[in-house]
Amino acid sequence: MNNIKISGIQKTSLIDYPDNISTVLFTQGCNMNCPYCHNPELISEENENDYLKLDNLWNFLDKRSGLIDGVVITGGEPLIQESIYELLVKIKKYDLLIKLDTNGTNYNLLKEIIEDELADYIAMDIKGPIKDYAQFCGIKLNKSIINNIDQSKELLINSSNVFTEMRTTVVPGMHDKRIMKKIAKKVYGVDKFFIQNFRPNKVNNPDFKGKRRFSEKELNEFKNIFSEKNVEVEIRN
Ligand code: SF4
Repeated sequence: MNNIKISGIQKTSLIDYPDNISTVLFTQGCNMNCPYCHNPELISEENENDYLKLDNLWNFLDKRSGLIDGVVITGGEPLIQESIYELLVKIKKYDLLIKLDTNGTNYNLLKEIIEDELADYIAMDIKGPIKDYAQFCGIKLNKSIINNIDQSKELLINSSNVFTEMRTTVVPGMHDKRIMKKIAKKVYGVDKFFIQNFRPNKVNNPDFKGKRRFSEKELNEFKNIFSEKNVEVEIRN
């Protein structure tokens, strides 16, 4: 399993896997380029620092067994890593829960992971309404990627053997009530939807640095839009 770039590890987290103590792995590289991305150092395919050696990861998990409940794999986009499937198989052998974050562009792999029960919790970004996706993710999207994102969303909505989260990071100037209404129409059935307020202290596109964030009142207005559609929704501010 050589083709996996893990450029960061947070040994203990109390927040990244809801209700569980987890270790977080950050994979290097993303196939999107969202201007508001909070982990811009993980977008490029390469990092100048060394990647985590897998032997060190296994040694660490040997020692941590019993002290953590699960592992969170985030990025970047974890599903562009060639050996991600093998990584999940191996982590599962430690009898740990796995939470996987994804932008939903690799539908086939996501389906395989769910069918083979290699993740317990999957969190997928919903950047905007599917038809206007390119406005939100900083890259040109061809039809096949858009189809993949849409199919991934439907897959999660219809999956019963994994806890499913979807979330939209909301940015003033990009998201408004009209946009949120379009998103809310399409996510009924997900286990939990989060409206995440944008964090302007660290961003991918410098034009977004220091931009204003939505107020609590505005976030609650967005929340109501989802509640009206009977979507289980919470705010991450
Ligand atoms: S926000 Fe997520 S999908 Fe967008 S560039 Fe950052 S890591 Fe990639």
